[in-house]
Amino acid sequence: MATTATYHCPACGTAYPADRPIWRCPCGSHLNLAPGPGLRRTDIVGADASLWRYRAALALQGPPKISLGEGWTPLVTRRWDGASVRFKLESQMPTGSFKDRGTAVMLNHLLEVGVGPIHEDSSGNAGSSIATYAAAAGLPCRIYVPAAAPRGKVVQIAASGAEVRAIPGTRQAVTEAALAAVDESFYASHNWHPFFIEGTKTLAYELWEQLGFAVPDNILVPTGYGSNILGLARGFDELTRRGEIARWPRLFAVQAENCAALAAAWAAGSADYVPFAPGPTIADGIATVKPVRMAEVLSALRGSGGGVVAVPEGDIGPGVKALGRLGLFVEPTAATAGAALTRLLADGTIRPEETTIVILPGHGLKATDKIGELLGLS
Ligand SMILES: [Zn+2]
Repeated sequence: MATTATYHCPACGTAYPADRPIWRCPCGSHLNLAPGPGLRRTDIVGADASLWRYRAALALQGPPKISLGEGWTPLVTRRWDGASVRFKLESQMPTGSFKDRGTAVMLNHLLEVGVGPIHEDSSGNAGSSIATYAAAAGLPCRIYVPAAAPRGKVVQIAASGAEVRAIPGTRQAVTEAALAAVDESFYASHNWHPFFIEGTKTLAYELWEQLGFAVPDNILVPTGYGSNILGLARGFDELTRRGEIARWPRLFAVQAENCAALAAAWAAGSADYVPFAPGPTIADGIATVKPVRMAEVLSALRGSGGGVVAVPEGDIGPGVKALGRLGLFVEPTAATAGAALTRLLADGTIRPEETTIVILPGHGLKATDKIGELLGLS
């Protein structure tokens, strides 16, 4: 296991030992974990069919105190527009979304450093994940959700025994309610806490191992705040520095055109946030107006040679249906990646003979109301 990890503040430059429950720097900025040591393929605990097979690379002090079997998700091959494509079923996590990678590692860290009641704000999948793992850990938990949050996700949160606080108004109002509660309980925010990305980095390790210790050419990721992009970048960076890989895949962030903060910055050639006009989208899981680590996500995409794809709203429903007919039942947020792949294959950015991974982050059972409407069911 690693020695105590170090937080660095990208704004004021302060460093802190990661031995206490903090979620941001006193200066107001987010914090990042210093790069980890990575791992050699011989460090993998092959008998453990979960992300804990990579425990040697995680910045924790000991073995996990709680696990629901997260990680080691299927990587299945299907034909898509004439290409052989590998779909990574992050939808098959304990709570039905990729969030469990980040949540499991973040909560195990918080248990190591000592934490009491926690709270979080979420429109759905992250709230479901945090509430579920809090239940597994025996921690009291309160989740602030938009009053209009998808019912299936709110039911999932409530089923774990967490307190659900429905907040009327905008998504921003929900975040403000969570921020106002920081003196009552610990803000276990998946968007702010660096250990969430420590968890999502195992996606890079897992793809590398499942491809026979090889690096794919392209990875498409439905992206809101960018924790999967940052996790992939962190994981591939660690493998590079450990000498296990010699090149990176191209990382493509997929957004819904109606709410595409990264696409707006990318189109402007900006290294950070640029103002844009967010609109409604069926892809609720990636409808992010202002990602916390915007500059880092853009830097990771540029550094990989990849980019940003903004999917028109009208392409998302057909994406859900096309994936469903391949046996891949996912929520509309995840289906944006299928629609994006169609565009990247059509314009020649991705060639059919390349090794391409499509990340499917969320299960279709999360969004049966919306998918029923897409299918014309009464
Ligand atoms: Zn700072």
